Amino acid sequence: MIKTKNPFNNKIIAEYKLHDNDDIGQIISKSAEAFKQWKTESIGNRTDLLHKVSLLLIERKQEYAELMTQEMGKPISQSLAEIEKCSQVCDFYVKNAAYFLADDLIVTDAKESFISYDPSGTILAIMPWNYPFWQVMRFAAPTLTAGNTAILKHASNTTGCALAIEQLFLDAGYPKNCFQTVLIEHDAIETIIAHETVTGVTLTGSEKAGRTIATLAGKHLKKSVMELGGNNACIILDDANLEKHIDTIVMARMQNAGQSCIAAKRFVVVDAIYDEFVEAFKNRLDQIKSGDPMASETEMGVMARKDLVDTLEKQVKTSVEKGAKVTYGNTIKGNYFEPTILEDVKPGMPAFEEELFGPVAAFIRVANKEEAITVATDSKFGLGTMIFTKDIKAAKKLILDIPDGAFFVNEMVKSDVQLPFGGTKASGYGRELSQEGILEFVNKKTVYIK
Ligand code: NDP
Repeated sequence: MIKTKNPFNNKIIAEYKLHDNDDIGQIISKSAEAFKQWKTESIGNRTDLLHKVSLLLIERKQEYAELMTQEMGKPISQSLAEIEKCSQVCDFYVKNAAYFLADDLIVTDAKESFISYDPSGTILAIMPWNYPFWQVMRFAAPTLTAGNTAILKHASNTTGCALAIEQLFLDAGYPKNCFQTVLIEHDAIETIIAHETVTGVTLTGSEKAGRTIATLAGKHLKKSVMELGGNNACIILDDANLEKHIDTIVMARMQNAGQSCIAAKRFVVVDAIYDEFVEAFKNRLDQIKSGDPMASETEMGVMARKDLVDTLEKQVKTSVEKGAKVTYGNTIKGNYFEPTILEDVKPGMPAFEEELFGPVAAFIRVANKEEAITVATDSKFGLGTMIFTKDIKAAKKLILDIPDGAFFVNEMVKSDVQLPFGGTKASGYGRELSQEGILEFVNKKTVYIK
């Protein structure tokens, strides 16, 4: 049994019966059956349906946003923005899928040779609760449009969102079983990955879950995409325009109560601007409106689950025992974690080594740009790095020094439907969004005609 609970008031929202082995078997065979027909649909028909999804998302924006906010506690304004972004990812693939999936002619000694981007089968998506609609839609929009079918295993605390998304595809007119949700515990995952109709698996979540699922994918020789945690550095050089960028810098850490893989987690600040930076950051934190996530003015809601609050509290406590100092916030009330600043953070502390998945900013003071790069890249994760400086020319010279999936200058690391999204090292592999995303789960078939 899955029980969903509102993290703001701890009230049970709903209870769901788990699928048993028979149900799972049926879901897989229905997906295989649906694939036989769906793979033959023209791109035009597929994108027409995706366009309907986009329209329905906007029509039902309020309903879906409220569902997300109730299940995982993000402020309603951020939930509404998330649904709009889901509509944008649909529109992007409606516009571009035919071009992305068109045969790629290559001149060889054949009469004709080209790459045909064929659908490959059923793709299993294991998704997290932090952006319950967005994480699913950025997978589903390209993957279904490429002609694959999908099975979603969503985070259990956002099961209502999972079922709403399944219904959304049906209401838009997708053939039955093209997109299905499975309600299961972890130990049932292998049966799905192992099945012959399942040709790939994508996971967005923790490094730990990533290692487990990537191992299973390897065991069964299935293609996988891993979008895992991050510990992004935000470098502040002495010429940064703080007045202009401080809102962005603070939001890079605090949005979604800090529960974002691409959030700025370690602020690596050059000594000459450090005091000014701390003051500007604190002033901005003073203005953040915390409160009921359903209130339109709320900027900081609650964290999604009590165990996530407990983990973060422990990470802060251990960092303090190792010499870090709390210089702002750190009051915890239920699932509310006050925006917090930890200073004097050093390698060896959880605040430096681990992902802090909540509203705690770790500050590290460095002497100069060179030390900033050394500290910023000293991480097992590789999702993204951001740098704030007026010297764009010098920043561009650093591109090769950043071993991450993204490098943002004077902007927070964020996803844009037109640009590839993904990480390196323990942040995973593979790319979502853009043309890269739609090509992850296709069979890139060589066709050669003599
Ligand atoms: P998890 O990685 O545990 O959960 C993400 C998804 O993976 C959920 O659907 C979960 O299912 C599923 N999952 C987890 N372990 C397995 C497994 N062994 N086999 C099959 N499915 C699995 O994240 P948590 O919710 O526990 O959050 C813990 C930490 O993960 C956070 O503190 C953060 O560091 C990181 N995280 C990163 C995210 C990102 O965007 N990259 C998103 C969410 C979390 P179920 O809900 O049933 O457990």
